[in-house]
Amino acid sequence: MAVRDILILPDKRLRLESEPVGKIDSAVRKLVEDMFDTMYEAPGIGLAAIQIGEPRRIVTMDLAKKDEPKQPQVFINPELVGTSGDKNIHEEGCLSIPEYYEEVARPAAVKVRYLDLDGKQREIDADGLLATCIQHEIDHLNGVLFIDHISKLKRDRVIKKFTKAAKLGKPVGNRAADE
Ligand SMILES: [Zn+2]
Repeated sequence: MAVRDILILPDKRLRLESEPVGKIDSAVRKLVEDMFDTMYEAPGIGLAAIQIGEPRRIVTMDLAKKDEPKQPQVFINPELVGTSGDKNIHEEGCLSIPEYYEEVARPAAVKVRYLDLDGKQREIDADGLLATCIQHEIDHLNGVLFIDHISKLKRDRVIKKFTKAAKLGKPVGNRAADE
């Protein structure tokens, strides 16, 4: 088991655009394992590789409720290939912005194309929580955070709070970003 440190706002690496995965080799599989270990430990329902400092286009997710069996899902090189015109508003949070939640409007349904761990191309139609979560995670792969979708006033306020906490060495979350 390898639980890795999660990058916390305002760590600049969270703004990197992640690189597509070429070959799904043992290093990729090990990274996916670490991502699940880190995500379950946090605990969180979704994680992008860049959140543990790896700029690769990989997302892990598990939307199972507490009393349900685990439903681990891996999306490699995920891309939105279709979005609905109607929007849904969900309250979002992020392991890289701990203990901060805000409502975000996103397309209510999306079609996502991705590779599974065997390198097989797949497509899913997502709505509800899955649609919100996959859009949130694909944003991470492009250096976008959910606070980019809220008002500038609220965004500036939360960035200021986390920047101050990092400077004081008292991160809001589990660990300060120090690079
Ligand atoms: Zn996030």
